[in-house]
Amino acid sequence: MRVLVVGGGGREHALCWALKRDTPDAELFAAPGNPGTAQLGKNLNIEVTEVGEVVEVVEEHRIDLTIVGPEAPLAAGLADRLRAAGHAVFGPSQAAARIESSKAFAKDVMQQARIPTAASRTFTALDPALKYIKRHAEPLVVKASGLAGGKGAVVCGTRDEAARAVHAMLAEGAFGDAGREVVVEDFLEGEELSVLALTDGEQLLVLPAAQDHKRLGEGDTGPNTGGMGAYCPVSIATDGLLETVRRRVLEPALQELAARGAPYQGVLYAGIMLAADGTPYVLEFNCRFGDPETQALLPVLPGVTTHLREIAMGTWRPREAILSASRAAVATVLAAPGYPDKPRLGAEVQVPRDLEAGTLVFHASTTRDPDGTLRVAGGRVVTVTGLGDTVAAAREQSTQGCELISFEGKTYRRDIAWRQIRRMTERAGAA
Ligand code: AMP
Repeated sequence: MRVLVVGGGGREHALCWALKRDTPDAELFAAPGNPGTAQLGKNLNIEVTEVGEVVEVVEEHRIDLTIVGPEAPLAAGLADRLRAAGHAVFGPSQAAARIESSKAFAKDVMQQARIPTAASRTFTALDPALKYIKRHAEPLVVKASGLAGGKGAVVCGTRDEAARAVHAMLAEGAFGDAGREVVVEDFLEGEELSVLALTDGEQLLVLPAAQDHKRLGEGDTGPNTGGMGAYCPVSIATDGLLETVRRRVLEPALQELAARGAPYQGVLYAGIMLAADGTPYVLEFNCRFGDPETQALLPVLPGVTTHLREIAMGTWRPREAILSASRAAVATVLAAPGYPDKPRLGAEVQVPRDLEAGTLVFHASTTRDPDGTLRVAGGRVVTVTGLGDTVAAAREQSTQGCELISFEGKTYRRDIAWRQIRRMTERAGAA
């Protein structure tokens, strides 16, 4: 079995690691990969959105299965091209990936399928957007419709702020083409959850929910980032709630996409705002695994990559409806100083060889010099996943691992999973 993982971040290192765990004989390739994936297989230095190049590589290396990590190659039609050439691939078509690459499209799908989501309007012209905002209650949310690297949603406390945000997107070209269309939506309150499900378009297997931490600073303060950490399982995401998400969100989304001629295969990720009355409102859909949620989820789902393979091969018959986590996991991101605005690159990274069992280091943005020295190559440098019997123990394990890895100016949060740990403390206090 020759498997190619497309992408080069922490998520892709975790995918390679889980593939090796589940299928030790698999021969792994990563494109472009990183120094972490290089320890598990062969890195192929190509640009992942150059779809033709990826297809050539798949043929040259006689790849049996391709798993696509990031959204950009999916939005560029990589899965379509591979399928058309007869190759097994895990990941949605370009048309189905619009559920992430166009928030306007996702909103339309949700409205048509009656999926709970914030009321919204979509605009391409400035004046009608400004008029709409003038009559809108505060706070409100302005989103660039296209792919904006997770930075396209602006939560606005006031109408003035919202007016500035749509002006920046529609009139000044902030976010480029991604901001030529904007969605203005109601602000929702509640607790956020990431619910990911594997699907072949008809059957669904829901993974345990995760919670991520987008803000740079402890206590969820500071600027938004690509994600500073994630954990699972989340105790408020009971099987009953996941069943509700399946029935009210995931199944209707799949049916609506199929009805539009865009059947969905791959992992469907629903960013949920859980309202006080228990209704799961969808904030966004993603067409791929989350980063860093993947680095927390895959280590506690032994055997999960078998599902990816069978979905890609068209032989999938899942026996369960919901997978449960074998343990608790906390994934903490170690970021470069200056992240997210201006990460300082180049510092030497030292990862001790003898980290404890139960600590996993997934490379995200590192490079290796010819002499073997590891260096910081981007904002999020590595993710350290700690495993434990409880989320609190897993966090302890993750934090200890973070302390042992060194590079100049290393920044990370020591409070990943604080909501879960507070819930557990409160429950213990009440008992
Ligand atoms: P998105 O890219 O749509 O997931 O938005 C990024 C983040 O913005 C989410 O994780 C939420 O924290 C916040 N957000 C997005 N939409 C809303 C909303 N309608 N109400 C409140 N917060 C939101």
